[in-house]
Amino acid sequence: MIKLTINGKEIQVPRGTMVLDACQQAGADIPTLCYDPDLKLAGSCRMCVVEAKGRPNLMAACVSPAENNMVIETESHDVVESRKIILELLLARHKLECHTCERDGSCKLQDYCYRYGVTDSRYAGQGPHFGMEDPNPFIKRDYDKCIMCTRCVRACEEITGAQVINVKDRGHHAKISTVFDGKLADSNCVFCGQCLMVCPVGALTSKVSAGKGRSFQTKGVLTTCTYCGTGCTFELNVKDDNVVGVTSVRDSEFSPVNKGALCVKGRFGWDFIHSPERLTTPLIKENGEFRPASWDEALNLAAEKLKGMKDKYGTDSVAMFSSARVTNEENYLAQKFARVVLGTNNIDHCASLCHSSNVAGMGAAFGSGAMTNTINDMGEDARAIFVIGSNTTENHPIIGYKIKQNVRKNGAKLIVADPHCTDLATMADVNMQFQPGTDVALLNGMMNVIITEGLLDKEFIENRTENFAALKQILEKYTPEYVEPITGVPADDIRRAARIYAESEASAICYSMGQTPYSTGTDNVKSVCNLAMLTGNVGRPGTGVNALLGQNNVQGACDMGCLPIAYQAATDSEIRDKFEKAWGLTLSAQNGLTVTQTINAAHAGQIKGLFVLGENPIVSDPDIQHVDEYLEKLECLIVQDIFLTETAQKADIVLPGLSFAEKEGTFTSTERRVQLVRKAVSGPGEAQDDWWILCELSTRMGYPMFYANAEEIFEEMRLLTPSYAGMSYARLQGSGLHWPCPTEDHPGTPILHKDIFSRGLGLFHAIEFKEPVEL
Ligand code: SF4
Ligand code: SF4
Ligand code: SF4
Repeated sequence: MIKLTINGKEIQVPRGTMVLDACQQAGADIPTLCYDPDLKLAGSCRMCVVEAKGRPNLMAACVSPAENNMVIETESHDVVESRKIILELLLARHKLECHTCERDGSCKLQDYCYRYGVTDSRYAGQGPHFGMEDPNPFIKRDYDKCIMCTRCVRACEEITGAQVINVKDRGHHAKISTVFDGKLADSNCVFCGQCLMVCPVGALTSKVSAGKGRSFQTKGVLTTCTYCGTGCTFELNVKDDNVVGVTSVRDSEFSPVNKGALCVKGRFGWDFIHSPERLTTPLIKENGEFRPASWDEALNLAAEKLKGMKDKYGTDSVAMFSSARVTNEENYLAQKFARVVLGTNNIDHCASLCHSSNVAGMGAAFGSGAMTNTINDMGEDARAIFVIGSNTTENHPIIGYKIKQNVRKNGAKLIVADPHCTDLATMADVNMQFQPGTDVALLNGMMNVIITEGLLDKEFIENRTENFAALKQILEKYTPEYVEPITGVPADDIRRAARIYAESEASAICYSMGQTPYSTGTDNVKSVCNLAMLTGNVGRPGTGVNALLGQNNVQGACDMGCLPIAYQAATDSEIRDKFEKAWGLTLSAQNGLTVTQTINAAHAGQIKGLFVLGENPIVSDPDIQHVDEYLEKLECLIVQDIFLTETAQKADIVLPGLSFAEKEGTFTSTERRVQLVRKAVSGPGEAQDDWWILCELSTRMGYPMFYANAEEIFEEMRLLTPSYAGMSYARLQGSGLHWPCPTEDHPGTPILHKDIFSRGLGLFHAIEFKEPVEL
């Protein structure tokens, strides 16, 4: 520790602390412009200058290390005069139009000019004024407000890894520019808006929010993104019951995964909330045309139809699709409605198309079909990252950006295996562009090298796994030379990839939809589990088998039981008994039908009615024509959604629900983190909470369901769901909790299988390569 005196106050700080941090610890309010705690130091704006006794010059506090016995003044006469001159220099080519500026009230330049009484600049008129034409749909760059702090340049490089912008020219002619000074849309810009997030002035603003309300006119409502499984959090900016923008939350207590960073979807893709195409009233189809109906009429008709089919054709003649988009609470009620009110286990959602291979593959190998580690692990602790079958920067952008950061900043090694040349592939140490569907051969080839070269973790295999001998035997023939003609990957690349993965201290595997929705998807998943166990890369920070789930709540919808073969299986009499006692009636012991089986069963005339909550099978199913025909064959199709989707257009009854911005509840992200969704605005017209619709329908069908709010549903759910048992809305307020969280004092489980696998010993599977039938 060293000792300093700051504005007469003595403090102690660890050696290596910067003067700026020391001053802030002493309670001094130092103005900063180019400084950003999440970015590399620039030390260029000089606003943070302070006076150190005995030093000839003022020092920039952000880049000066504190020294023992320093005596510092942060607002001395010289410091203040210097800051005034800096502000005048910055104003030299800065348009003073605060009255119309989007950043009025949240601009650091404005704040500091006010603080130091700077109204004008002696140097004004010196610089050229650049145009601001850039016809992209998201970001407005006003060069005449730019103070050249380079925060945007650093954010683009260090947070997103896009490296799209930099400083062009010098002096008065300096400006932030893309390569060849072209338009953003013509560059590699991904419109993540990180530049906008860090800009301290009005030089970068959102075109989507322009003119809709400035920061002091809006209220921020913290919530969780509704797009992908990453689970980013942000604030919805609300004015007059309208969402007018999105603001980053950079405090990791409230933004534990993305720490303020967002992708184009989360930052700019909120305008659907107030789309004129939102459903505002229930609809009933008559003579092929929809007509608006009252809630009573639509619900009574839906209840009558569902009950009629159930009575006439039996309980398993009806099926329900729930949704990876809606909340856990709504998914819990959807499966309860199917099992209790419809009397069937025919409940599924799109996870059957993408995630069921994980449930089966990881479930068999580890005992739990969920991502083993955290997203932050891949950005921080992993020393090698093996990305297979995932275009991460497109599908889970924030995870992709974190992987890039880990590679660029921390020197982590990157191996990419994908039939496409993805964005991550371009920066990989080894890029294996393999033939589609040959994943097992490629992985077997890597494991063959690991065993042949003695790079396996014998202790881990011996103490924590079983069936290694069978795997070893089958791998013998998968030499890199044998695998090369199957996969198209040069044998040497397979060797290099295997060595990097096996030799790093902590290697993480990350995969997504390139691995799972195949007829061989479960084999692919079992193979990555084999690779991780072979090298002892499970149960530690920075390791694991990390399945990146597509939509925002795939994990939650599965956890809630919206699967025909649920985690808590209907065929297990003890589990059934638990639910029967809680719900007060007898449940079916038969497993239900998956989405694709339901469609075939409808073709065969076994399924007569379908209730779809928030899914669009006409678009999401692999065979659209097949689904289209099947929907035509149904006696009754009921769709609950927020838009008249392609599927809803085929419905007999349409029930309007609410978007994520209009409801309370929880989502569970791909890393098993349960986070709160908070209501920001009212829904349009007569649209209702999705849980309310389910309760009304249930009550009308003879099983009264009443809840006061989403929290009451969560409280019922957690009593029946052991991995959520210790969670409550109060505990989820900050950064949420990772399941399993079995008791109210349990901190949650960021890393699975630490000392023991969920199934006890990890199970190796000896898997031969076979071509997927899709080929
Ligand atoms: S939007 Fe993102 S990628 Fe584009 S310039 Fe800004 S930070 Fe870079
Ligand atoms: S655009 Fe904003 S963040 Fe970028 S250099 Fe100019 S003032 Fe700084
Ligand atoms: S990465 Fe996913 S969760 Fe994060 S902002 Fe983008 S779409 Fe939303």
